[in-house]
Amino acid sequence: MITKKMNDALNAQINWEFWSGYLYLSVAQHFESVGLKGIANWFSIQYKEELDHALIFINYVNARGGRVTLAPIAEVPQSWESPLDAYKFTLEHEQKVTALINNLYQLAEDEKDFATRQMLNWFVAEQVEEEDTARELIDKFTLIGNDGMGIYQLDSELGSRTYTQASPLANKD
Ligand code: MG
Repeated sequence: MITKKMNDALNAQINWEFWSGYLYLSVAQHFESVGLKGIANWFSIQYKEELDHALIFINYVNARGGRVTLAPIAEVPQSWESPLDAYKFTLEHEQKVTALINNLYQLAEDEKDFATRQMLNWFVAEQVEEEDTARELIDKFTLIGNDGMGIYQLDSELGSRTYTQASPLANKD
């Protein structure tokens, strides 16, 4: 079993992961609407990965005999000035999520909840990757600036990203 406090904290994180997914789906719609379909594709895949993150937490809470409750998902922004702006927003958001994961990790340590701590290790590593990827794309779009050909090429490159499930832990059982 997990404590009520840990259960509540994990439910809050589930909501954050869904919010992240909703956010990235919104970014995808923005770039779809301005004809940058590669970037839209990249964010659509990001959206699916966030749903995987939520499912990993959901499966974990159930496996520990907890109770998953789903809260409303808050509103997300609808538009961004440029790809660079969207990736800067992504990095800031992922840094916030990293802090949330770290808080959960601290709670698991405080409660001597070693199973939850172990489960969170996956997310600790995942957040390093999320931040690194966002930073890399910020660098690329900064380098390109307003060069239309550069944006066209990078958009094509991001269009080739394909979805693979973030972790088998997102599968039920
Ligand atoms: Mg996430």
